[in-house]
Amino acid sequence: MARIGMTRIGVLALQGDFLEHRQMLERVSIPAVEVRKPQQLDEVDGLIIPGGESTTIGKLLVAYGLLHPLRERIAAGWPVWGTCAGAILLARDIGGLDQPLLATMDIVVRRNAFGRQADSFEVDLDVPRLGALPVRAIFIRAPRIIAAGTGVEVLARLADGTIAAARQGRLLATAFHPELTPDTRFHRYFAEQVVGGAAER
Ligand code: GLN
Repeated sequence: MARIGMTRIGVLALQGDFLEHRQMLERVSIPAVEVRKPQQLDEVDGLIIPGGESTTIGKLLVAYGLLHPLRERIAAGWPVWGTCAGAILLARDIGGLDQPLLATMDIVVRRNAFGRQADSFEVDLDVPRLGALPVRAIFIRAPRIIAAGTGVEVLARLADGTIAAARQGRLLATAFHPELTPDTRFHRYFAEQVVGGAAER
């Protein structure tokens, strides 16, 4: 649906911390729509898949008839940002686990791969695309992005080299949760650079 002016971003609202994403979008004055039905995909220009439990979100994508419409849109160049569980759903390879996936982004992830001690942690990340100020990144039972294809731009790495944020065309993946800090730069980046850049591609 073509709309003049304002970009509208959907937040997949089946499970997980979709409310926090919606609030972040509202804070930067981007109209946000909670998406639960396939027809709602027509009302938005891109979609955020929140953190939560990727197995549950995947099963609900199937149950709500959203998996295939979303895959088709992504194949046609639609912008989608997956945070944490959302990044798992985007990944083409999660190590052979049997769970429904979109499997559209050329990243390889391993679920819950930071080990028990470090199930959850916070760290300052350099994200040059977002400016000089580091991003405070909260990892909660996060996936490890262990590899990325040649078409993928790595946006941030942990000190040990692990990929923490990446972009492939109009797909964005963060292993951490920008929606849980006051820093709105990732939401602006998605809205402006990924979603808003539609006309230039
Ligand atoms: N551990 C979750 C999973 O594997 C992801 C955690 C999160 O989204 N914070 O699906």
